[in-house]
Amino acid sequence: MDGGPRWDLRSVSTEVIHVRMLIHAGAGNLSRDSDLGRLEPQMLEGLRHALRTGHDILRVGGSSLDAVTEAVACLEDNPLYNAGRGSVLTREGRVEMDAAIMDGRGPRAGAVACVGTIRNPVRAARSVMEHSPHVLLVGTGAEAFARDHGCTLVSPHHFVTPEMYAYWSSLAPSEDPRLEVSAGGTASKRGTVGAVALDQQGNVAVATSTGGLTRKMPGRVGDSPIPGAGTYACNRSVAVSFTGSGEHLMRSVAGHRLAALVEQRGLSLAEAVTVLLGELTAAGADVGLIALSPQGGWCIDFNTTAMLRGVVDAAGTITSAMFIDGPVRRQAG
Ligand code: ASP
Repeated sequence: MDGGPRWDLRSVSTEVIHVRMLIHAGAGNLSRDSDLGRLEPQMLEGLRHALRTGHDILRVGGSSLDAVTEAVACLEDNPLYNAGRGSVLTREGRVEMDAAIMDGRGPRAGAVACVGTIRNPVRAARSVMEHSPHVLLVGTGAEAFARDHGCTLVSPHHFVTPEMYAYWSSLAPSEDPRLEVSAGGTASKRGTVGAVALDQQGNVAVATSTGGLTRKMPGRVGDSPIPGAGTYACNRSVAVSFTGSGEHLMRSVAGHRLAALVEQRGLSLAEAVTVLLGELTAAGADVGLIALSPQGGWCIDFNTTAMLRGVVDAAGTITSAMFIDGPVRRQAG
């Protein structure tokens, strides 16, 4: 146990901070008449349920850390998303999940990768942050640690839904792992999930959870559990969760890059997102992000045709969308 945050970067203020939370469940290039497009109503309802869960915590003065943990756990338990139950399968037909959480105070971070029996990887990530001196645990070591710290372990079969097994079976095996990760296009691709929140104490937090890429090589780990890549939060700058091309996001250290554009270059959050998305698009990455500043500014953006996304404002009003022509896109407050 590291004894909790050592400092809080926000100055003490009597100002009421309006709680807010953003959520995503993956970005991709798909149309309304694709298999996944037809699930839009159910997928948006799942997002709204997760947003309500997080908002209920924030509304009564709970922490952003609790809000993102519980919201992401909701999405992990919902088989519609590529996280927890419903995760995509590796080349060998197994589920290998990654998750991370960050507390903007400190900042502090915890993560697990390549786990196949932890019911809610986000809870295990939080245990790593709060009850170990480490940041990232992987594989069986992470599973043993999670079990010893009260996380529920389940059979690997729990995670494999009939839909994702059928999707996996329909894809032709390829000898080239670079082709395998994109095999089958995105018509049935399910999304990584993530949440960012700002609490009444002015602290931001983020959590991201994923099954990774369909037919990925066993042992492949993406950006989601890497603090500073797919997941980053700091009370000096921003909390951000990404989805999309993990290798690009890791190479560009996307989360920390966004924070540096805000903190060191002095850009607004919207300007920083525009710069970063421009760089990632130029590099050929398909990506989306949700970002929230400790001042309550927020931004959701993506360079694909769809991204499952939602926002809850201080009054509890929820807005959610899936396709590019829907609301809550390229907004910054
Ligand atoms: N970023 C995730 C990964 O590379 C995948 C996704 O968000 O779709 O593991």
